[in-house]
Amino acid sequence: MALFINLKNELKNENYIKKDFSVPFKSLDLPKEYSSKDKDVDVQMHIFKEKDGYLVSLSIKSDVQLECDRCLEKFNMDLKGTSNVFLSKKKLSGGELQEDDLIAKELEDEEKFNVSELLREEILIQTPMKALCDEDCQGICPVCGNNKNENPCNCEEKQKRENSPFAKLQVLLDKKKDK
Ligand SMILES: [Zn+2]
Ligand SMILES: [Zn+2]
Repeated sequence: MALFINLKNELKNENYIKKDFSVPFKSLDLPKEYSSKDKDVDVQMHIFKEKDGYLVSLSIKSDVQLECDRCLEKFNMDLKGTSNVFLSKKKLSGGELQEDDLIAKELEDEEKFNVSELLREEILIQTPMKALCDEDCQGICPVCGNNKNENPCNCEEKQKRENSPFAKLQVLLDKKKDK
């Protein structure tokens, strides 16, 4: 169920409103890597009425379960961040604009602003491109398939040694010696 705000109504007599609420993660229709099924996202929105639209300062806080890019184990990560979004009632060239700290978007319907969509985008923005369970995660060994955090192995080192030019030279030298 998407969540909507009627901006026109809510800011009819005020120039500023603040909204605090929580939404269940699963209502946001996120990619399947976000497996935080039963959790909520805490949201705080400051909305300011401007001449040509609304300025929204959006803060989110949650704890998501992600899959580590290196070792593929699931782990929990604190997700939080703040973005400033300008919802423009005027047409923007290209539909969306992004400057330093501000994202500008066209507001399609002032009376039915889709908050869920904004939250979904914010969560995607605040998720690191590379999700790692730990900065020092050792990942999976490409040779034996071990999770190297749990079972360290030296397959790669061994392979490197065998493939090094010096090792090949050594083999040649050994052959020569045999003759
Ligand atoms: Zn990992
Ligand atoms: Zn290995």
